[in-house]
Amino acid sequence: MADTPQQLGDKRSETMMSGTVGTVRLFGVPVRMHFTFLLLLIFLVFIGIGGKQSGATTALYVIALFGSVLLHELGHTLVMRHYGIRTLEIVMFPIGGVSRPERPPKGSEELWVALAGPLVNAVIAAALFAWLALQGKFVPVELLREPTDANLAQRIAVGNLLLFLFNLLPAYPMDGGRILRSLLALKRPEDEATRIAATAGRFLAAAVGLFGLLSANFMLVFVALFVYLGAAQEGAAITGRILTSGFPVRAAMITDFRTLSHGDTIRDAGNLLLSTSQHDFPVMHGDQVLGLLTRAALVRAMLTGGPEAYVAGAMDRNFLRIPPDLDLSEAMSRLSPAGTCALVMDGDRLLGLLTAENLSEFILLRQISRSHAQHVT
Ligand SMILES: [Zn+2]
Repeated sequence: MADTPQQLGDKRSETMMSGTVGTVRLFGVPVRMHFTFLLLLIFLVFIGIGGKQSGATTALYVIALFGSVLLHELGHTLVMRHYGIRTLEIVMFPIGGVSRPERPPKGSEELWVALAGPLVNAVIAAALFAWLALQGKFVPVELLREPTDANLAQRIAVGNLLLFLFNLLPAYPMDGGRILRSLLALKRPEDEATRIAATAGRFLAAAVGLFGLLSANFMLVFVALFVYLGAAQEGAAITGRILTSGFPVRAAMITDFRTLSHGDTIRDAGNLLLSTSQHDFPVMHGDQVLGLLTRAALVRAMLTGGPEAYVAGAMDRNFLRIPPDLDLSEAMSRLSPAGTCALVMDGDRLLGLLTAENLSEFILLRQISRSHAQHVT
């Protein structure tokens, strides 16, 4: 396990992805389902009813594929754990799972972490195929189109084979794209490797999307869209990570900011929100930080308690706090799920604020100064 500052360990459980329902813990990792996954389950059960297979088989098939995707994600999780990276959560989406690591795996770690997931599906497929071969229960491929009770095991095997192949597509953010990126990064600078893998991902997604449109396969179009957006988003995220790594948080934090006192009212906070460009305000008692009043909490308090309520009642006491010497790239990955704002604190002393907005400004300035340096030399 990674050595993480204790004060952070307790806060993270709250920074979960939105739109998720239900939580189970596996190997200490919270597994959540995105609500769209439930829609898919209902859909699958619905189309399965009335076919040649029994209801129980339909349910078994859905559970087996769900389990296969989950085991795939646990494959990533366990290899990450081997490298000391904690998984904050696994979220199950209709077209696959997403593991959210506490920090992104670096260098060769990424190769093994990315490989682990598809390998799990390869092992499941191989085991089922071997079992089917031993039992002499293979059915011709064209008969698999029609789900029956008898071809259940083979359909699960084929499902895992497809999961294996699909995830190995060299397209960001698929595992294959991560593998491609980590292999490219052996020979060339990391940001260039990322750019190539992300571009490959976008091209592949565009091709798959076009094919989906022409063949009227809208599930494929949906998958392509997901891959395309993921490629663009992750490409930007990784570029940001590269440009911020090696800098301490104190290099980018906001040092000129306003605070509220615990005796201030929501009206005072609202006035501060209007008169400054700040969205989130530390709530102080003298030199001591009591909490953080975010804009969302302020609005909520204004609606429920009215302008005369005290800020102390609306503030978040479990705000994200980060030390000033933490690497900025790591601060960025902690900040992104939490969303808004982190307080930079040296022990109990408040030094500054770190927001997604000023992080992106830092990245912008770094980009400019880097391209400037490249033109000069
Ligand atoms: Zn994966």
